[in-house]
This record gives sequence, structure tokens and C-alpha cells, in this order.
Amino acid sequence: MAYFCDLNRMKDKIQTFSKFGDAGHGGITRYALSKEDEMARDEFVKRMTAIGAKIEIDDLANMYATIDGSDPKAKRIVMGSHCDSVKNGGNYDGILGVMSAMEVLETIVEKNIPHKHPITAMIWTNEEGSLYPPAIMTSGMVVYDYLPDNIKPSVEYSKMMASINVLDKTTTYKEALAKFKYIGPKSNRLSRDKYVCNFETHIEQGPILEDAGNEIGVVDCVLGMFNYRLEFHGQTTHAGTFPMNKRKDALYAASLALVELHKKVDELNRPELVYTTGEIVCHPDVHTCVPDYVNFSLDVRHEDPKVLEKVLAIVKSFDGKEFTKCTCKVIPMWNRDTVYWDKDLVKFVKESCEELKVKHQYIHSGAGHDAQFVSYMLPTTMIFVQSKNGLSHCEDEYSDPEHCMLGASVMLNAVLKADKHYE
Ligand SMILES: [Zn+2]
Repeated sequence: MAYFCDLNRMKDKIQTFSKFGDAGHGGITRYALSKEDEMARDEFVKRMTAIGAKIEIDDLANMYATIDGSDPKAKRIVMGSHCDSVKNGGNYDGILGVMSAMEVLETIVEKNIPHKHPITAMIWTNEEGSLYPPAIMTSGMVVYDYLPDNIKPSVEYSKMMASINVLDKTTTYKEALAKFKYIGPKSNRLSRDKYVCNFETHIEQGPILEDAGNEIGVVDCVLGMFNYRLEFHGQTTHAGTFPMNKRKDALYAASLALVELHKKVDELNRPELVYTTGEIVCHPDVHTCVPDYVNFSLDVRHEDPKVLEKVLAIVKSFDGKEFTKCTCKVIPMWNRDTVYWDKDLVKFVKESCEELKVKHQYIHSGAGHDAQFVSYMLPTTMIFVQSKNGLSHCEDEYSDPEHCMLGASVMLNAVLKADKHYE
């Protein structure tokens, strides 16, 4: 038997949570550990307590609301996402996964759906890392012991605790955490001892589902990616007095290199490959000075490591190359392999879509999510809900409430299949 969640209750949640951090023009600014974050957690506690769920909090302010199953010895099935946002973000990124998890528990309790395992809805703290970088912070800390060695340093506990508020430049993450209303013991953290598998529902944040006329994405993996910086050293001097032919302009060199890089990567002709230069550092960054130092970021993503290697070979070929008398230096920042979701759980999501007659397709995730870290600890999968015009991390972010309800319904039925599958 397949179950649907409640459209009106879902709509009510979307409207209610949109108030916590309402920026006044359709979106929200809800930083982790802020007053607005606290309001969203108050609402989570209120709604989850109302259905008889037990609330737990860990030492990183992650929150867990659990309803019992028929087997008191069974491990928990967990569903979760984050409730923080970027500055002037939308009403769906992250919070939709929390609302969907709540909706699943509410539907189970309301319809009295039998299940063996306890089921938990959870909130991850500081996924966006908007005030306290990096992104996907606490899920990384929680699964630290299971992470590959090359990823561990990026989420190391003492480093994360020392992360400094990017706005006030003084408060550390540790200090903000100590002041936060919702804090508990480390023993409440997600663990293999207590939990059996993990689901995360999230908006797609891209245009693929909408373009294909599909409501739901059955996510099969998070794309592998690498991150490099290209650096250029020149000579600074006066913009008015120094002749053009004698200059070593690092910004001009960087722009020539960027154009050449795009040309070469595009020649690989891989339609699914995405790569971005989104950040540039220019010194001295003064309009009357020739720039003597520039570096820019390069973020490259694709499922197939062989394709990533081809791009990497192109990027590395720029190392030591001269552009207008400035030498390019290629610096690796970090990389991650494609993470494939648990095959059984992906199958349960697919079957649930079919049983509910939801329009769906397989899809890759190009963005990182809490689920990606959790997958190192527990069998994990994700469900994507169609994003209007593919927009996200902005106030225009929108998903149809009907699609949101369908996403929660797909997760509910997949959770019930997992409930039968695991001991
Ligand atoms: Zn998110």
C-alpha cells in the first residue's frame, strides 16, 4: 500500500518556516545559530512534540525528533537536512528536507502506519557555512572517523570550533555554539550504533527536472569534483606613467589564461561537464595601479573520474606557462570522488515513485549536501524536488507545494520499504 502526505499541512509548514528570517522580499536570511535559526528550531520542537516525538540534541546543536517503532531493539531510520540559509536565500534549500522529514513522521502518526524501526526527523546545523565557514560543517564533524584521510582535515573539530564569524570577524563558532539555546551531549550524535540508514530530500537547484517535465529526481550520486587556483605574478606600477609594452599585468595575464582554459576544456565536448571560475583575488586592487598578483578559483564537476582527469591534465598544462610576461602557477586545493548512493535505497525511492505514479527520473547531484558526508557512515540516498527555473541560493527559489508534498510522499514510502528491508 502506498501513502500520500498531506498537501495542506505541507503548505502550512512552508508558509510558517518562511517567516523565520523573512528578509521582506520573498526570501530569508537565516544564518546558523542565529535568533532566526532558533525560531525555526522552536517550530520544529513544537510540531514534533505535538505528535509525540522524543526530542534530542547533540553537542553541535544537531536536533533529532524520534517516534518509536514496534521493535524497541531496532535501530533508527533517519531523514534530515539543514534549516540555515545563505544571505537572502530562498524558502526551500535545506528546510524542505526538514519539513519533508517532519511531514513523514506526521503522516505516519496520523494514519497510524505500522513500522518496526524508530524513525527520526533531524536538523543539521550550519550546512551553508554562511557565517562560519566551511559549508557542510557539522555532518562532516559527526562522521569524521569514517571519512577518507584526504577529506578529514577540512572538517577537523578544533579547526571548525575556531571558525570565525565572517561578519563580526571576532566570534568563533565555539562561542556561538555555547550561547545557542539548543545544545546537548555528544552521546546524542548520529552513530552506527543507533541508526541504520539515512534519507535526505532536497530541492534540485537546477533546471533538469523542470525541462524534462518531471516532478521528482531519484538521485543516484553526488558528482566528483576538483578545486584549483591559478596564480599569476606580475609587477605593479603607476597606471599613468608606465608604457604598455613594458608592463607585467597579472590581471590581463589571468584573463588570457581563463579564455584559453575555457577554449581547451570546451574542446573536450562533454555536455555534462560543468566548470566555474567564481572567485578572483587581485592585488593591489587599486584603479591607478597595474595589478601585480592575481589568482582565480576553478571548480570542475563530472561523474566520470576519467573525464575529470582529462580536464585536470589541461589545467596542469598551464603550470609554468607565461601569459604577457607573467608566469602561471597551478595550485591544487581539494578534490572528491563521485559518491554513489546506496543501491537498495535508490531502488526503494524509484519503486515509491512508480507506485505513487509520480513523474520521475534518475539524476546526479552537482552540489554537496549533508547526505554526502552521512553516506560514509550509513547507507544513504537523496530525493530531489523540481526547482522552478532551476534557481537556488536566491529569493526567487521556488518549488510547487504539490511537488514538495510528492517528494515527502516518495520519502515516506521509501522509508517504509527500508523499514521492511533492514533488521
Ligand atoms: Zn541545502
